[in-house]
Amino acid sequence: MLHHRSDEFAHVLDRLINGLKAAFLTENDPAVLTSSGTGAMEAVVVSLFSAGESVLVPTAGKFSRRWAEICRAHGIEVGIIEIEPGQAVLPEMIEAHLEKAPDTRAVLLTHCETATGSLTDLNAVCRTVRDVGRKRGKHILSCADCISSLLIDELRVDEWCLDCALAASQKGLLAPPGLAFVVLGKEARRLMQHPRSQSYYFDLRKYYDDVRRCPFTPAVSLVRAVADSLESILRHGLQNVWAANRAGADALRLIIKAAGFRSLAERQSNAVVAFMTDGLDAEQVKRILLDRHGVVIAHGQQELRGSILRVSGIGKSSREILAFAEAFADTLAEIGCGFDLEAIRPRLQNMLEDRRIWE
Ligand SMILES: *Cc1c(COP(=O)(O)O)cnc(C)c1O
Repeated sequence: MLHHRSDEFAHVLDRLINGLKAAFLTENDPAVLTSSGTGAMEAVVVSLFSAGESVLVPTAGKFSRRWAEICRAHGIEVGIIEIEPGQAVLPEMIEAHLEKAPDTRAVLLTHCETATGSLTDLNAVCRTVRDVGRKRGKHILSCADCISSLLIDELRVDEWCLDCALAASQKGLLAPPGLAFVVLGKEARRLMQHPRSQSYYFDLRKYYDDVRRCPFTPAVSLVRAVADSLESILRHGLQNVWAANRAGADALRLIIKAAGFRSLAERQSNAVVAFMTDGLDAEQVKRILLDRHGVVIAHGQQELRGSILRVSGIGKSSREILAFAEAFADTLAEIGCGFDLEAIRPRLQNMLEDRRIWE
């Protein structure tokens, strides 16, 4: 192991931070936390808000609800906009809520709701939040969980007026789990200076004292793994990475549609494709895929269990996506509702051309 106070490690951490800035498209240095993504969510909540203050959380699935659960655990008042699974919050819904709840200090968003594959239009929503704040002469913070969207779906932290964005190492960064990242804009860093944090380890002020020098021993080996992974991904250019991930998700959507299923999400992320299994035994499909073909797909969470399945192309080669198509066709044929894969194969192969950077 490198010593975490050595110059050598400082250089590795610099590489990671520079890579993250390029991935988030921000001028602000992100803080690196040794925790899973949820730790970064909690760090944001305890560092920016105090018990008794109010925030707004639009909820449309397990992950967006997590923001509300963390806030309540710390005594923060949560206003909820409950959204149908598969839908995303719209700027006018936020505006209407802020009208009724003028004390709201922040809106806590989820870029891709991984439970449904739905993508929030962060650009439109965060602009609305900023404009409502300006009219009132006070800044309302926009914070977004970008854990499953970073490097997958287009994300422009500075251009889209996000005050706070966070992610973790194990999704689009194609690295092991264990690190999380928080970018704070100037306004969020200013607000953080008031003594409000109720956490010792997750007090973001300690990290932002000097982000290039972690306050506690970081997971040194993971810092190096993620720095390397980020560099090898970004070498292709961010636009090409987004395009390759879009091509993978488009291919999965084509397979799902050919098999006669409908996507759950209206505004779809490229991180995960969730589809309605109407009438089919979702658990059986998942089990056959795993037992006979070694293919892992995910079931629906909480109230969506049994009614959807989710499949992701993150980090998969074109060959693996084609193998999924074949396994899926075989599985459905086995339970008596097969589809004609050959009819879409040429289009599928064409789409997957755009993924050559992953080969
Ligand atoms: C995966 C995921 C999380 C969970 O993060 P952990 O790293 O398991 O703590 C949170 N939010 C979203 C949107 C996710 O996709």
